Formats: sequence, C-alpha cells, structure tokens
Amino acid sequence: MPVPTYDVLIIGSGASGGMTAYELTKRGIKCLMLDAGPPIDYDRDRVPRAVCDLPYRGFGKPGRFPHVTQANEFNAAIWADEQQNPYTYDPKDPYYWVRVRRVGGKTLVWGRASWRLSDYEFKAKDHDGYGENWPISYADLAPYYDKCEPLFRVSGRKAGLPQLPDGIFIEDSAPDTQSIARFKTAAKKRGIPTTQPRRATGQLASSLNLLLPDALATGNLTLVPNAVVRRITVDKKTGLMNGADFVDRHTRREMQATARVVVVGASCLESTRLLLNSGIANSSGVLGHYLFDQFYVKNAIQAVVPEARDGKATRDLMGGAGYIPRFRNLDKKDKDFIRGYSVDFSSGGTPDPKYFPLYGEPLQKALNAHRGAGFDATVMGSVLPRWENCVNIDKEVTDAWGIPALHIQARYTDNEFNMARDATDTLAELCGDAGFDILEKHDRMVPPGESIHELGTCRMGDDPKTSVLNKWNQSHDIKNLFVVDGSSFVVGGSQNPTLTILALSMRAADYMAEQMRAGNL
Ligand SMILES: Cc1cc2nc3c(=O)[nH]c(=O)nc-3n(C[C@H](O)[C@H](O)[C@H](O)COP(=O)(O)OP(=O)(O)OC[C@H]3O[C@@H](n4cnc5c(N)ncnc54)[C@H](O)[C@@H]3O)c2cc1C
Repeated sequence: MPVPTYDVLIIGSGASGGMTAYELTKRGIKCLMLDAGPPIDYDRDRVPRAVCDLPYRGFGKPGRFPHVTQANEFNAAIWADEQQNPYTYDPKDPYYWVRVRRVGGKTLVWGRASWRLSDYEFKAKDHDGYGENWPISYADLAPYYDKCEPLFRVSGRKAGLPQLPDGIFIEDSAPDTQSIARFKTAAKKRGIPTTQPRRATGQLASSLNLLLPDALATGNLTLVPNAVVRRITVDKKTGLMNGADFVDRHTRREMQATARVVVVGASCLESTRLLLNSGIANSSGVLGHYLFDQFYVKNAIQAVVPEARDGKATRDLMGGAGYIPRFRNLDKKDKDFIRGYSVDFSSGGTPDPKYFPLYGEPLQKALNAHRGAGFDATVMGSVLPRWENCVNIDKEVTDAWGIPALHIQARYTDNEFNMARDATDTLAELCGDAGFDILEKHDRMVPPGESIHELGTCRMGDDPKTSVLNKWNQSHDIKNLFVVDGSSFVVGGSQNPTLTILALSMRAADYMAEQMRAGNL
C-alpha cells in the first residue's frame, strides 16, 4: 500500500502543535499530527475514586515522580513516566522537568494564567543592554494575541500598563474583598501596580477541547496518538526535511511519516532533543543553549489577616486574588539586578499546618482559629538567558524506545537570587502596611524547571550565526522546518508563556500557509 504524503507533519498536540493544526487545516492544508502520548478518554479516565480505595491513599507511589511535585495518585496517569523517559543532570544542579505525554500536552493541566509580553521583553537588550532582542516587536505579535484571547476566553481587567499590554478579555468586574483591597492600597502607596488575574476560562481550556476538535472537523487532520518520534528525516537529494521516523509506544513497531513541511511542537526541551538527535538545524552551534524559565518562590509570604481569625473570615473580608506585574527597572535602574518579577497573591486560604510548631489538639485548635484567614503570595521572576544553561544528548542513557536522552545543565545566578530577595522583602513590607501578620517569609526558589516554563533552547533571531530560527519560527538552515514552541523564545520576562506560544504558533502557521500557497515551500 502506498504511504500517504501529507502537506505538513506536526509533531506534538499541545499548545503549539494544536494551534498550528487549527490554523493550517482551516485553510485546506492536509496535516498529519504525531503525538507520543495516548488519547484522553474522559469517560474511562475520570472515574471518581475514594481516597481509601487507593493503595497509597492519594499520595501516590513514593519515588514514582521524583521531579513532578504536582503529581499525586489521582492524576498519576497524566505525567510522563520518569522511568520510561529518563534525563540526566549534575546532582549538584537538579533540574525538575515536568512533562505530560498525552494528546493535548500540558494544556490538559495548565493553570491558564494568560499574559502578554511587552517590548520590555521583545526589545529587552535595547532597554538594559543585556543579551539579545527578539527579531520581532510587540506590534508584530499583537494581532495574534488579539485572536488567541477570545479563542481561549481569557478573563481579566484592562490596566493600561505598558509592561503588561491589555488584551481582549471577558471583563472581570468582580469587586475586591476588603483584604485584597487593603493589600492593593498598600501597593499603590508605594507606587506598585496591581491588577486582576488574567486566565483562560474553564478547566477545559486546552488544545484538546479548543483547537483539535475544529481541526479534526475540517477533515484535514489525521491525528496519530502513541507515536513517539525518533528523528526527523532528510531528503538526501534536496537537503530538505521529508518526514519523520517514529515508533508505536505499545507495539514498538517502527514507522515513517512523509510530508512537504515539518513542524516541531513537542515542547521546548523535547523539540530540542529531537533536533539534536536528528543532527539538524544547528549550523550556528546555538541549538540547546540559552535555556531559561521563570524562577518561582512559592508562598514567599504566608500571612494572616488578624480580623479574620477565630471564625470571622467573612466573604466580604476574605477571598479573591490579584497580580503585581513587573515594576522594577522600567523607567530607571533601581536595584541590584536587571529585569523584574511579578507576584500572584490570594486571600482566604487556611495556612498549612507546617506554619504552626504544634501537634495534636493544640495544632487542630490553631488551624481552626486560622481557617480562611490566610493571605499568601508567590513570586515569578525573570531568568536571564545564558549560554552556559544548556542541554545536550547524554550518550549513555536512552528512553524506553532506545532514543538518546537529554542531559540538562541549568543554574540560577546572583541576578535571580537578588531579585528573589527584593521580592520577598517588598512583599513583607506591603503585608505590614496592609495590617497583616506574617507567619513566614522566605526567598527560596524552587529548582530550575519546576516553574514548567522552560524556554529558549532553539532561539529565533535575524542572524543565522547566533540563532536557530528566523522571525517566522522557521529554521535558518532548512526552509521547510519550523519549531513553534517555547524553545523559540529569546527573552521570557516574568509572565507565564503559553499565550505567547499560542500567538507565535498562530503567526508561524499564517506565514507557512502563505509560503505554501506561493510555492516557496
Ligand atoms: C501544572 C501546570 C500548570 C501550568 N500553568 C500554566 C499557566 O498558568 N500559564 C501558562 O502560560 N502556562 C502554564 N503551564 C505551561 C503550559 O502548559 C505550557 O507552556 C504549554 O502547554 C506548552 O505548549 P507546547 O506545545 O510547547 O507543549 P505541550 O503542551 O507539553 O505539548 C507537547 C506535546 O508533544 C508531545 N511529544 C513530546 N515529545 C514527543 C515526541 N518525541 N514525539 C511525538 N510527540 C511528542 C507530548 O506528548 C505533548 O502532547 C503549566 C504547565 C503545567 C504542567
């Protein structure tokens, strides 16, 4: 039987692959999508189970997911199995690589926080002299953000801040509770801006529910799950990509896919691994370098609103959430670090028992007294893209299908440590001004990777000697190869990246379709 040839092969079905398929198929372009994971079957996979029926009472088998702090016994089937999918790092510099191998990718579980980048990120070098600018500016991406926000039904409130461009939101007009209002007033008095959270609406706001169904409905998408791509293949006559070799996850049968154009959207580090294992797109030597993410200081502040203690956490006093966008180093250099951080804060939780040095009945009494009276804040800081933070292929280790694994090398530097310290001190001051009691403040970052915002290892740029992709997410070396995920970022800021990944892949698909129509691809 002849092997069908597709117009475009898309590797990965998450945010970036899903958006590429959504855009291309509606223009009549025939796409084949390969994803390493199984499909989701909501009827089978979402059966309610009582904790007492689970062998590990909900906590999960110890040691099964050493790097996935979000994993528990209820959601264990979602995460990429760490035994089947190993990676390595120097034990001195642990890296927490959090992966989802399922159709829909990490959008099945993302928190849906959706922020735009600004020219403080796209033109960061112009601003503070460090690193490189993106080859595009905010104006290039704004029309695509405009389309992605309504598609993902992002709720939020316009704030008029140049460092956090407004978008097309479902208006969030919920009034602030007194505790949130007090914190916002304290911030305003110190010149620190705050705004409402911006979030894609609904737990089903995923590639699986919002992108793939429309793409499949066109009849132009063939989606193959359980297809682990081993390498992208080259046509020796033309030097162009002609498809990929892949292996069935279960049967281990080896297969080939053929297409005119290859799009890689397997997530930042998996895409980079695939390109390194294929030996392509690296004439610059930059592939795998400049790995960065956002550092997180989880619960940098845990405070209590005193008036809410002892059962007085009423609905008008407690509850709600907000966001501090970057405010450092905008108009002037004002601290011992460059760039900046943002903060998610929320009111109305009950502080974790770890904050009370008590046991038994006294602990229970303390928890009862603080029920719903908590205020906490998590810091997300911009991480500098540095050549030294990089990935390469570990020649000794392979995954369950014999595909060479990644070695990851990532470390934070003083710029990030100083930023974390400043953020925690500033938050403590704001809580004090707002009249909150602080139970704990700390500036301990989680290990690199745990923010799940890995970026930058396949960066775009105008110069083929210093970047892997051009401004259209297209390989400088091979014109029919595109990489559409977060590996293409040059600078990430402190905003969660997925809205930008969606906008970039939509823009790349637009360009691809135009180039195919013009006969250039
Ligand atoms: C718990 C959690 C919370 C998050 N919260 C937020 C948030 O609030 N805001 C935000 O902006 N971002 C958030 N993120 C990050 C967000 O989910 C990712 O940025 C986004 O999904 C990345 O899209 P992607 O297409 O690059 O990768 P993914 O969505 O991960 O998709 C990659 C796909 O590629 C497939 N794949 C990998 N390797 C291969 C291979 N060799 N062959 C075939 N297929 C392969 C995988 O199976 C997967 O389906 C969160 C992530 C997690 C896990």
